[in-house]
Amino acid sequence: MKTKIAVANGDGIGPEIMQAVLKVFEANDVPLEYEFVEMGKSYFDAGHSTGMTAKAKETIETLGLLFKGPMETPKGKGVKSINVTARKVWNTYANQRDFRTLNGVDTVFSKAGIPINLTIIRENIEDTYGGIEHLLTYDVAVGRRIITRPGSAQVIRYAFEMAKRKGLKKLACGHKANIMKLTDGLFLETFQQIAKEYPEIEASDIIVDDLCMKLVTRPETFEAIVLTNLQGDIVSDLCAGLVGGLGFAPSANIGDNISIFEAVHGTAPDIAGKGIANPTALLLSGISMLRFLGFSKNAAAIENALLYTLEQGVHTGDFGNRSIPASNTNAFTDAIIANIGQVPANGGVFSNPDFEARVSHLQPIKNKLTVTKNIKEEMIGVDVFVEARVQPNELAEMAKKVLTDNFELVMISNRGTQVWPTGSIYTELVNEYRVRFEKKAGKEITQKELLHIAADFSELAKVCSVEFLMNFDGKIGYTLAQGQ
Ligand code: NAD
Repeated sequence: MKTKIAVANGDGIGPEIMQAVLKVFEANDVPLEYEFVEMGKSYFDAGHSTGMTAKAKETIETLGLLFKGPMETPKGKGVKSINVTARKVWNTYANQRDFRTLNGVDTVFSKAGIPINLTIIRENIEDTYGGIEHLLTYDVAVGRRIITRPGSAQVIRYAFEMAKRKGLKKLACGHKANIMKLTDGLFLETFQQIAKEYPEIEASDIIVDDLCMKLVTRPETFEAIVLTNLQGDIVSDLCAGLVGGLGFAPSANIGDNISIFEAVHGTAPDIAGKGIANPTALLLSGISMLRFLGFSKNAAAIENALLYTLEQGVHTGDFGNRSIPASNTNAFTDAIIANIGQVPANGGVFSNPDFEARVSHLQPIKNKLTVTKNIKEEMIGVDVFVEARVQPNELAEMAKKVLTDNFELVMISNRGTQVWPTGSIYTELVNEYRVRFEKKAGKEITQKELLHIAADFSELAKVCSVEFLMNFDGKIGYTLAQGQ
C-alpha cells in the first residue's frame, strides 16, 4: 500500500528540482502517492494572504506530511513568509539539518582531509520569528523575542532523542545566555535539566560567537548542536558553507502531528527556468523524509546512488570539478537513476536512523496548551516605556508626580542603560525611556494600581508600552538595566 503525502512544487527552481527528485523516487519504486497542493508566490499574487489555498491547508493537515520546494515571499506586500508561517502554524518545532562531507564536493576541509558530520537542531517556532515588532516612536523599533519553557523543552528533548538514535556521544547547546539572561538563560536551563535524563550523552554548552569561531576552525569536534531559532538559522547556514554550500543542505521540520521536508536554499531566481539547478539538497531532504516514513531501504538505495554519482565527479554548475563539464538538472538526475544499485567508496549507507519512523499521523481535536504548574508568582512593579524628549532628571520629576504611597521610582533607562538615579553624561539618548516603578517593602499591590500608574503617566508623556515586573518562586523575572 502506498503512503500519501502532500507535495508543493514551490517557486523559481522549485518545480525543476521537485520533478527531478520525484523522478528518482519513481525509478526506485518508492511507495508514495502525491497530492499536489497549491501554495507559494502565485497564491499570494492571487490574493490568498497566507500564500496557500484552503484546500492546500486541509490536505496538509489531513495527510500530516508536506514535501515542499522553496517558495518566494513577495517583498513589501505586508505578507509574512509562507515558509516561516507553515512551520509555526503547524508546530514543526524541531528543524533538523544534517551536514556532512560528500565525496566529489570539494571544500577547504575535504581537501585538508578533515571529515565533517554534524547535525544542527534549530528551534523552529519561537524567538524573533514571532515577527512581533512595533515602532514605539518614529526613531525606536522594538521586536519581541519569545522563548518559552515548553517550546524549549520540546526541541531540546527532540535533540537528545535524535542524538541517542544516531548513537552520538555529544550534544552541545549554543546560546547567548551571558547577555540574554532570561530568554537564552531559560533555553540553557532547560537544556541542563533535560541533559540529566541522558547521562550517556556528553552535554555541553557554548556561547554562540565562540561556537561560530570553533565551527570554522575545528568543525570535526562537533557532533550535534541545539540552538534557539535565529542563532540556529545563522549557524546552520554557516555549517552548509562548511560542506559545500546550500546546494547540499537538507532540512526537516519535525512536529508531533505535521512535518515538512524541504531544502535549505531558496528559489534561486537567477537560474530559475534554465534547467541547471542542483537538486541534491531537495533529494537529501527527500531521503530523510523516506526514513521518517519508514522506507529506509529506499532511502539507503537512493542515498548510495547519489553518493556514488557525486564520487564519479558528476556535478551541476554550482559545484564540483571544473575540468569535468557540468551536467544540467536532467542529466544529473538521470546519472543518479542510472547509479541506483551502486555503492559508494565508503561502503554505503544501509540504515541511518536520522529520524524516528513515524508510525501514524495524529489529528488532535483541540489546540494543545502546556503550562508549568505550582509556581508561586508575585507582581512587584511595572516598567512604563514612554516617549520623551527631556533629560533623565526632568523625566524623573515627571514620574514622581504619578507615584502613590505604595510605590517608589527605582530606575530610568534609555536603550537598556541606566540613566537615573545615576548614569554617565556620555550615554547618548533616544526619545524612548523605560521608567521602573516597584512596590515598597511590605506593601500589597494590585495589577490595577500598576495600570493606574501608566494611565496617569499618559497624561504627562506618551506611554509606548508597559511590562509588569514579576517574581517566580522567589526569583526575579526581569533583568536589571546596564549600570543598575
Ligand atoms: P537562494 O538560496 O534562492 O539563492 C542564493 C544563491 O544560491 C543564488 O545564487 C542561487 O542561484 C544559488 N542556489 C540556491 N539553490 C541552488 C540550487 N539548488 N542549485 C544551484 N544554485 C542554487 O537565496 P535568495 O536569493 O536569498 O532567496 C531567493 C528567494 O527564496 C527569496 O524570495 C526568499 O524569500 C526565498 N527563500 C525561500 C526558502 C524556503 O522556501 N525555505 C529559503 C530561503 C529563501
